[in-house]
Amino acid sequence: MKLHILGTGTAIPRIERNSSAYLVIARDFNILVDVGPSVVRRLLERGFEVDDIDLIVITHFHVDHTADLSTFFFACNYGKTAREKPLTIIGGNGITRFYRGLRKIYPWIEPKTYDLTVKRLVNESRAFNGVTITTAPVRHNPESIGIRLDEKRSLTFSGDTDFSQNLIKLADRADLLVAECAFPERKVKGHLNLESLYRIVKKAMPKRVLLTHLYPDWDTYKGVLHAPYLLAEDGMEIEI
Ligand SMILES: [Zn+2]
Ligand SMILES: [Zn+2]
Repeated sequence: MKLHILGTGTAIPRIERNSSAYLVIARDFNILVDVGPSVVRRLLERGFEVDDIDLIVITHFHVDHTADLSTFFFACNYGKTAREKPLTIIGGNGITRFYRGLRKIYPWIEPKTYDLTVKRLVNESRAFNGVTITTAPVRHNPESIGIRLDEKRSLTFSGDTDFSQNLIKLADRADLLVAECAFPERKVKGHLNLESLYRIVKKAMPKRVLLTHLYPDWDTYKGVLHAPYLLAEDGMEIEI
């Protein structure tokens, strides 16, 4: 699997850090995790188009994780060519209602030339093209999910979350855990800081941990991170 880091930021608009989003390439199957502001453009910068995406996972409905979903759908209908290949969207509780709401506001996003499947996946595993996707609720919004992808290797995304037992299970001995660590020291409800992330990692023991969803507090953080921890940057590519 290959991971492209499309963004490592938050709701705070910043040049250096786009809203958090990731592209996973697994056996020619392309999975987009979250579609916040400017993510469609970020795909182009990495050499991908909307049509290259087979499956989208939405970790939760906050604007910094979903704002470009309508842009994505609109481009499927009115891009260079109309999309033909099927698209699957996976999310937590309420994903269908969320999609229907979006379609009510933007009737032009209704698929015209391709099949769209919108699927709720909570506390379940399902295989898509040889990649098994497992999700479980995490502690942020009622619909929030963490995700684990298993192919030959395993990759876990925390989504936005506070300390979570489910995340410990999802990250169990994963090859890479992409973990939100919104603040290095400050503890804010619904998010992790280093101290609470350390507790998760100690139990789950993933091989590597990539810190993302970074608030500007990180700009002035004077501490040093040691392996297996690595601070994510926009544009990073990681082979898993
Ligand atoms: Zn967020
Ligand atoms: Zn959020």
